[in-house]
Amino acid sequence: MLKAREAVLSTPSYHPPLSGRVGLRLDFNENTDSCSPRVLRRLQRLGSQDLAKYPEREPVEEITAAFLKVKRNEVLLTNGVDEAIHLLCQTYLDRGDEAIIVVPTYSMYAIYTKAAGGEVIRVRAAEDFSFPLTAVMKAVTSRTRLIALANPNNPTGSVVSNDEMLALAHAAPQAALLVDEAYFEFYGTTILERRREAANVFVARTFSKAYGMAGLRLGVLIGDEEQMRVLRGVSSPYNVNALALACLPEALADQSYVAEYVAEVLEGRQRLEHALKERGVQFWPSRGNFVLMRAGHSKTDAALFSEQMRDEGILVRDRSADEGCEGCVRITIGRREHVTRLLQTLALDQLAGTQGAWRR
Ligand code: PMP
Repeated sequence: MLKAREAVLSTPSYHPPLSGRVGLRLDFNENTDSCSPRVLRRLQRLGSQDLAKYPEREPVEEITAAFLKVKRNEVLLTNGVDEAIHLLCQTYLDRGDEAIIVVPTYSMYAIYTKAAGGEVIRVRAAEDFSFPLTAVMKAVTSRTRLIALANPNNPTGSVVSNDEMLALAHAAPQAALLVDEAYFEFYGTTILERRREAANVFVARTFSKAYGMAGLRLGVLIGDEEQMRVLRGVSSPYNVNALALACLPEALADQSYVAEYVAEVLEGRQRLEHALKERGVQFWPSRGNFVLMRAGHSKTDAALFSEQMRDEGILVRDRSADEGCEGCVRITIGRREHVTRLLQTLALDQLAGTQGAWRR
């Protein structure tokens, strides 16, 4: 009988609650509004010939490299950051090799590691979710071949300094260090300019968040030219579709759209954090377009809270299953009116002082 590889069979599947997302979507950290109108206009101008032809990635990579101020050969456009993570795991992990992740974090690092036959080494973040550099350093072995860090981290919103990441890259030269900057635009700090200090550092960016193009599936991976040549070799030449490639130059050219959206999100994040602080609801200060907050102390509390919000037409994400997040939910920050609606719906009085149980 046909049987999948053992590594694949033993990989826990990831089923984010994607179906039936009706309402205000504050559950997946997407842009809550739209992409730039320039992107939409470009899409509307596409013709049947554009679809009939295989997509050509290189010219758009050149534009992206110029935008990022890196060399053309240091850049690979990907089908979202998810594909970049997948490619890194396929490229660097042999059976039994170790990938270090700092939990709680984005789920796909562990899934692609396991599916590649690697072993996931989970290092717990500190109590306040700050980066546990000493513990991560201690976890490095001769079999460490990947260290994946989200900066800012999802779902906690915490960040790691460039110095800490570079110290780690130097301590583990046998490992690829992925700095996943999916939320870069909301944070504003990057390791990109210092990446060349260590040849094993990779930076990933996405167009799914600030740029509002999650449905087009577009990400970019930046790394050492020599390493990128190898990664490009295992990627499909047609991994990014023609619609996404047509839109990317427009998206990059419309930085005022991104800046304006980001400014609104930062203001909204402040409004939410201020409201939570005022009522004494525990939350973790975030550098992303989302905030992790406590809805109670048990899985049931977080589930009930999320359910009640859904009944009110707002989708939030129950993160109770993540390490150290029991009773917590993650809420995406979006446009001003979306934050206003969130604040009107959040029963802060009910949350205030509970920090124990969320009850209807
Ligand atoms: N990295 C992180 C840290 C994320 O939170 C997400 C989205 N939830 C992704 C990557 C996925 O990005 P993309 O849509 O580009 O695959």
